[in-house]
Amino acid sequence: MNQETTIFDKILSREIPAEIVYEDDLCLAFNDINPQAPIHILIIPKKRIASLAEVKDEDAPLLGHLLLVISKLAKQVGLESGYRTVLNTGTDGGQDVYHLHFHLLGKRSLNWPPG
Ligand code: AMP
Repeated sequence: MNQETTIFDKILSREIPAEIVYEDDLCLAFNDINPQAPIHILIIPKKRIASLAEVKDEDAPLLGHLLLVISKLAKQVGLESGYRTVLNTGTDGGQDVYHLHFHLLGKRSLNWPPG
């Protein structure tokens, strides 16, 4: 599954446009095309990893980096009153795009439990 390309590869290669809000050597963050909250950013590793189910021990620093980027991004976009970070995995987890990505959602009150 790691070999399959997704729409996020095309965003990474700039084949298709996205509203990019952050980039570094390891990851890219861009606005979700179908936002579920006033702030809805996707944070993806540049490395092609299909899902959390596919990660390897060697990916630990990358996964930690993604969370640190989310924490900094949340501050930059003004999510002082809180936010939701979501990582959908697999069919039951509601994953549609098989390139690992975190959702960062905020600027509205979010219900719990999720649907
Ligand atoms: P998931 O269901 O967790 O796999 O989330 C996939 C997310 O990617 C959804 O929230 C989509 O709205 C979003 N998405 C799909 N295509 C694009 C795109 N071209 N640009 C930005 N976000 C996208």
